[in-house]
Amino acid sequence: MTQSFPTTLTRTPKPRQADSALSFGRSFTDHMFIMEYEEGRGWHDARIVPYAPLTLDPATTVLHYAQAVFDGLKAFRGADGTIRLFRVQRHAERLGRSCAGLCIPPIPADLVRQSIEALVAVDHEWVPSTEGTSLYIRPTVIATDVMLGVHPSHRYTYFVICSPVGAYYKEGVKPVRILATDKHVRAVQGGLGESKAAANYAASLSAQQEAERQGFTQVLWLDGVERRWIDEVGTMNIMMKIGEEIVTPPLAGTILDGVTRNSILTLLRDWGHTVSERRISIEEVMQAGREGRLTEMWGTGTAAVVSPVGELGYKEERISIGNGGTGSLTQKLYDSIIGIQYGKLPDAHGWTSEV
Ligand code: PMP
Repeated sequence: MTQSFPTTLTRTPKPRQADSALSFGRSFTDHMFIMEYEEGRGWHDARIVPYAPLTLDPATTVLHYAQAVFDGLKAFRGADGTIRLFRVQRHAERLGRSCAGLCIPPIPADLVRQSIEALVAVDHEWVPSTEGTSLYIRPTVIATDVMLGVHPSHRYTYFVICSPVGAYYKEGVKPVRILATDKHVRAVQGGLGESKAAANYAASLSAQQEAERQGFTQVLWLDGVERRWIDEVGTMNIMMKIGEEIVTPPLAGTILDGVTRNSILTLLRDWGHTVSERRISIEEVMQAGREGRLTEMWGTGTAAVVSPVGELGYKEERISIGNGGTGSLTQKLYDSIIGIQYGKLPDAHGWTSEV
């Protein structure tokens, strides 16, 4: 059931870009969803309004102490024009867990889902239609107390904005090069790693910059203590095929519980593959690579669905994975998820919901 919210429509709709001109996260739709929280009053004043800047006092706590969480999901327009959200309830539940990790009063998942459904319905014309394009949806919560003491805020703002995005792979799925770093760490047990906290992304920037300087696309994060156990990659979870085993690091507190990760593990198990959610060290992966047993590696995330990894760097060594191209299982996973998202393949697990 989609709830309706008080809605003020824009009087100055923005021009929409052609699907072919869309990139990622640079243009935004005409409206946004917004509501506030105040201690004692709870979440209130939910509404849809014209997209506009927020006005924040310079002493607003989020600007100083990063008490902010968000999530990211997509809506897809199928060939018949139907708009489908992919696993919106699971994203909404994750936002609640992210809130809990940063002492933010959780927003009921049903309310988050309804806010997204209602906003996408209002801005439905903004969902692009060319295959590969989508509407990226960004629910966000920020702390809005005005004061410089360090403690959980008593006030918050929740908002949802949407951005039409271009095809991630315009010319077919393309492998990336990733660099395992033992110099920087992203998260530790007991930290914020499993929350989608804005601060995690700030913490990732210098390592990312260094990887790019060395010609890599993203960083492969190792655990923060022994600096040998694989965690995740950039903004993706990581999976690999070593011999007949498919391995991915477990959800043990330092990595994000990716929605794409969960979807792909489900498909792999449906198809009868052996999948291990277990700790795996960078040494084990490099050794498997040297011996030719590491045949496929891929990252999973909402933006790209799957990103094949063609090359892995660690210290001075570089190993090429498979033939450096896209493995057959990686391609099959990509095609299967995309097929479900655009309504071309049966949605056996009920992952999509029509708007
Ligand atoms: N890890 C991190 C750190 C991410 O930012 C993302 C992107 N949300 C993922 C993993 C993949 O998660 P999902 O499949 O839910 O997009």
